[in-house]
Amino acid sequence: MASGRNGFPRGPNLRNSSSFKSKLPPSSTVRRSIPGALGAVSGRVRVAVRLRPQNAEELEADADFADCVELQPELKRLKLRKNNWDSDTYEFDEVLTEYASQKRVYEVVAKPVVESVLEGYNGTVMAYGQTGTGKTYTLGRLGDEDTSARGIMVRSLEDIFSNISQETDTVTVSYLQLYMETIQDLLNPANDNISIVEDQKTGDVSLPGATVVEIRDQQSFVELLRIGEAHRFAANTKLNTESSRSHAILMVQVRRSVLGRENDFTSEHDVSSNGVNNFKPPIIRKGKLVVVDLAGSERIHKSGSEGHMLEEAKSINLSLSALGKCINALAENSAHVPVRDSKLTRLLKDSFGGTSRTSLVITIGPSPRHRAETASTILFGQRAMKVENMLKIKEEFDYKSLSKRLEIQIEKLTAENERLQKACEDEVERIKLEAQKQISEAERDCAEALKEEKMKCQMDYMESIKQLEEKWMLNQTKHASNGFIGTSHAAEGGMPSGNDEVSELKKLLQNEVQQRKAAELEIKNLKDCLLKSMKPELAGGNADIFNLQKMLEEESQQRKKLEEEVIVLRHQLSQLTLEASQTTSCPDRSRTGNGFVGLDSVSSLRHLQFKDASDGERPSISNLHEKVGLHKILSLLESDDPNVRIHAVKVVANLAAEANQAKIVEAGGLSSLLMLLRSYEDETIRRIAAGAVANLAMNEFNQELIMAQGGICLLAMTASDAEDPQTLRMVAGAVANLCGNDKLQTRLRSEGGIKALLGMVRSRHPDVLSQVARGIANFAKCESRAATQAFANLGTKHGRSLLIEDGALPWIVQNANNEASLIRRHVELALCHLAQHEVNANDLISGGALWELVRISRDCSRDDIRALACRTLTSSPTFVAELRRLRIEV
Ligand code: ADP
Ligand code: MG
Repeated sequence: MASGRNGFPRGPNLRNSSSFKSKLPPSSTVRRSIPGALGAVSGRVRVAVRLRPQNAEELEADADFADCVELQPELKRLKLRKNNWDSDTYEFDEVLTEYASQKRVYEVVAKPVVESVLEGYNGTVMAYGQTGTGKTYTLGRLGDEDTSARGIMVRSLEDIFSNISQETDTVTVSYLQLYMETIQDLLNPANDNISIVEDQKTGDVSLPGATVVEIRDQQSFVELLRIGEAHRFAANTKLNTESSRSHAILMVQVRRSVLGRENDFTSEHDVSSNGVNNFKPPIIRKGKLVVVDLAGSERIHKSGSEGHMLEEAKSINLSLSALGKCINALAENSAHVPVRDSKLTRLLKDSFGGTSRTSLVITIGPSPRHRAETASTILFGQRAMKVENMLKIKEEFDYKSLSKRLEIQIEKLTAENERLQKACEDEVERIKLEAQKQISEAERDCAEALKEEKMKCQMDYMESIKQLEEKWMLNQTKHASNGFIGTSHAAEGGMPSGNDEVSELKKLLQNEVQQRKAAELEIKNLKDCLLKSMKPELAGGNADIFNLQKMLEEESQQRKKLEEEVIVLRHQLSQLTLEASQTTSCPDRSRTGNGFVGLDSVSSLRHLQFKDASDGERPSISNLHEKVGLHKILSLLESDDPNVRIHAVKVVANLAAEANQAKIVEAGGLSSLLMLLRSYEDETIRRIAAGAVANLAMNEFNQELIMAQGGICLLAMTASDAEDPQTLRMVAGAVANLCGNDKLQTRLRSEGGIKALLGMVRSRHPDVLSQVARGIANFAKCESRAATQAFANLGTKHGRSLLIEDGALPWIVQNANNEASLIRRHVELALCHLAQHEVNANDLISGGALWELVRISRDCSRDDIRALACRTLTSSPTFVAELRRLRIEV
């Protein structure tokens, strides 16, 4: 017969024959049920039989008799001899011979039960047998002196302690004695009438009045057992009874937290893991081990015969006989099991026919004298083997511990949350600051880049608009001229250019001049002829007079020539003196400012004058004009000899740069100089004369005189004829000086002054352009001043600028950004003055000046001009509107 895992046989139970149930339920391979579920496993009550060795008395008394039992442990059979030739054979779950060690008995009888208890089942280990057969020996030996003698109680607790966790699991113990239907507390003797309480719902029985001691280790358990035994002994002495008459009941409650351990592990190591498992309450398994050391079974049969008090005998027997009845009823599957008949059966309700794993050890002695008791015991065991229990795990959710754990977790999480929140806030703050910093940096960079880009775009935009407008203008002009050419072409059948016309005119002019010269020659010839024809008639007295007159004339001519030569020589001498002194002195000469210096000789003279003045020497030119006389020098301006004229005009020019201006003007020098401009085609003379006029024109009084004598016309004429840039420079300088006079504005313009200035820009010489620019700036300034005054005094609005009227604007716009800073400054100033008057605004816009004004307002290196441009642009409604239209910001 195969042995089961727990050492119990699986095969059928035999009793001689097949009178026993042949099929027993399978061994208790504990099947784990779903936590909290009511799943149950069938578990038959296991029964082992243990034979006590012969004691000393038996050895002697039974020496001549054979033992009444014969064991066949390998077959798990026991033979009970009826007589010498007959015996009954019984099969048990385990047959333990007199040699069986306590260890083996524990392993076979109790260990499977203890294992079940550790897994959450109830378990019962009970010893049944005649007094003195070894029930207490089997269950309750402490093994103080010999550890191998330890009984099932001590070994069970040892096993339990080695399988539980001290942290999560608990072991509690109660130790009781049942005597005469009274339950006494062996751990607290005062507690001598403990009542059994039954749960109406579940039917579970409990002893709320019993002392429950939690024990932590084996040692304290042994101590507890010792105390219990002492109390049992004392109680029995007091009651005048024997321990064999009472039932001793040890109750061990093992409470294990199964999933709780796993959950605790999770919660300790990972606070943030809030898995579903974490909210599951831990499972508590409550296994209860009941070890029952029954009173001796012989009392049932022998109590009366041995003269015990009837009452006592009844009471002692009551519990055991009730147990027997219950076992019988259960073994026979009776409908009624009289559990409530005794306290013992009530207490063992779960152990037999309940949910407990139950193991029964029946103890027998070998003596044939006690054969009847032995047979009775064997029969009890055989019936008990038929009792089926339905093992049920005792599990429940530990909500208390879950709640406690969750509370701890909540506290932990609250703290963690606070910490994280703080850290998060700090981080957010830090990121915010960082971001703000970056944003402001980016904004700054962006604004700068944008500003730059915008500026560039606006400049490009302005430039392209300007170009477009120029192109448009050009196209307009072309268009217009094409129309004109078209008509002339139609009329003349050809396409003569402007130049052709000019050369044709020139030719005509030359012809005219030649014809005039020829006519003059003819007139002269005719005169000579007339004289010759008259001569013979006058040959008498008149001939002498005529000759004398002629001689006189020649003489005076001669004298005049000599005088002139003297002056020229003197002038040359003074020039030489000057040059000689120049070579040794500083050559610094100024051409700047309004002081207009026309010639090298003039500046040399100035220099010389300055030097002479400081040295106390007499200036040579002054010397010259004092010696010769200003009138004489001026008269030489009209000399027939061009050489004389040149020297004379140089002298005058030099004098005009000196403090002699008033004298020169008084003596009619200005008229002479103007006359030179008018009469002579020689450009050198004109240049020098213009220089002299320019110098005189520095004075306001002289300016008026020049105007009064038609000087502006003469200057304009010179300007149109001259080709030498230096001549043009002188003329432009003279006009520029005149332009600075408030009173002369209208006349200057009406007599062609502005046009003359603009005409001179054909010479691209910077010196000329610079003077032109100065003239225009002067004019614009005076005009602006006049307009402001007119508005302030009379409230009248000035008409648009004469400069614009005369077409100066294109040149102004073109040169507003001239490379030469001097020109640029003058033009910029002129533009600003023009722009100050709203009446000019539209012309300036259409003329493209707005762009230049914008540029000036941004780029001009001179703060005052830049500010002026800005002010002008922002104060003029027309400009403001236009700028807005063009989306330009100033
Ligand atoms: P019970 O409790 O059944 O009345 P006990 O356990 O008190 O019997 O045993 C009676 C006596 O027999 C004791 O002295 C005990 O030491 C002895 N005894 C019992 N069983 C054995 C055994 N298996 N081996 C040796 N001695 C035993
Ligand atoms: Mg005993």
